[in-house]
Amino acid sequence: MFSQKLFLKEIEESKAKGMYKPLPVLQSANGAEIVLDGKKTINLSSNNYLGLVDHPEVKAAAIQAIEKYGVGASSARNIIGNTDLYEELELKLAKFKNEEAALVFQSGFTVNLGSIPIIAGEGDLIISDELNHASIIDGTRFSKANKIIIRHMDMEDLEKKLKENRAKYKNVLIATDSVFSMDGDIAPLQDMTFLAEKYDSLLYVDDAHGTGILGKKGRGVADHFGLTGKIDFTVGTLSKAIPAVGGYIVGSNLMKNWLERNSRPILFSTSIPASAIAASIKVIELLEKSEDINNILWENTNYFKDGLTKRGINIGNSKTPIIPIMIGDEEKAKNFSQKLKECNILASSIVFPVVPKGKARVRCIITANHTKQQLDYCIDNIEKIAKAMRVIK
Ligand code: PMP
Repeated sequence: MFSQKLFLKEIEESKAKGMYKPLPVLQSANGAEIVLDGKKTINLSSNNYLGLVDHPEVKAAAIQAIEKYGVGASSARNIIGNTDLYEELELKLAKFKNEEAALVFQSGFTVNLGSIPIIAGEGDLIISDELNHASIIDGTRFSKANKIIIRHMDMEDLEKKLKENRAKYKNVLIATDSVFSMDGDIAPLQDMTFLAEKYDSLLYVDDAHGTGILGKKGRGVADHFGLTGKIDFTVGTLSKAIPAVGGYIVGSNLMKNWLERNSRPILFSTSIPASAIAASIKVIELLEKSEDINNILWENTNYFKDGLTKRGINIGNSKTPIIPIMIGDEEKAKNFSQKLKECNILASSIVFPVVPKGKARVRCIITANHTKQQLDYCIDNIEKIAKAMRVIK
């Protein structure tokens, strides 16, 4: 229960520990270089992976949509919030992801919140990775299904849980992130699809950090592993590599039909503005046209990773543009991030409870529009700080 007294006490305690920070205020587009609290800063904290958030063609598409449809949808999709642009986006998304159908929601978060309880209910079981995103956790909480958590990407644990439990339930849903947002590692989906098939279970993959990044033309994790058509439900967002706002799920026509008629965010919440839909359509068109931006993202990612590892920085098990500087100690990670900020570099510290105790880190995210000069500046300063703080020798 909310208690003013308790809340004020908690604020005072976190202020005393130096942990109470006001929200940072961004005064520019969320690009490679931003204006943050009035200062020019190199941004290693955005999910604008392809650097398209302020791309001229994407902005023009959004502006054109505002001219035609206005600034908001003014209705849920099932009433009159479902424009022809929505229909076009869903067709384009389904084609882009090589799936039968796509259903667009208001955000990636609402996809998981609104889909998981409809896919798995009473008498079913959800098996979820311990490091899955908060929205999968909350979607699972909303479901009437039973839940089991497995150790992070541990396929022996997954098989053990399937073996012990499969016969007890009508359906089993295995839920996982494709790319884990705190580590940048990739779920072993070849093994997961094998186990899902072996134990007659359904597979639900949140590809929020994979779409636009992994696979040919950025089609995502299924394409990356050659598993197209083998994942029952794939979730994505329109707020990261596709940098507007919204989320979607792709799978079968039947899935779309079922969710469209039952999922509560679709039925009870206003749909996203046409500008976001038009911008998303434009980004998919750009991705279909050329792989250049995707290649630049990977070139930058590999350049940054090589630079850090050559200087002895531990980047954990990162396989993607999400690159943690593993530090361990919570205070040290916070200080590290603060020291970077003093050099006008924004890279957030990630500490307990977001990651386990003793696994604190500073997370860097690389995008296609970082320049080599910016990356060099960051690598040099990271090395200097790491040496000064004895993170490396
Ligand atoms: N899933 C994952 C794995 C995410 O990282 C995020 C965003 N942090 C979401 C879902 C939510 O997506 P959105 O920001 O579109 O709500």
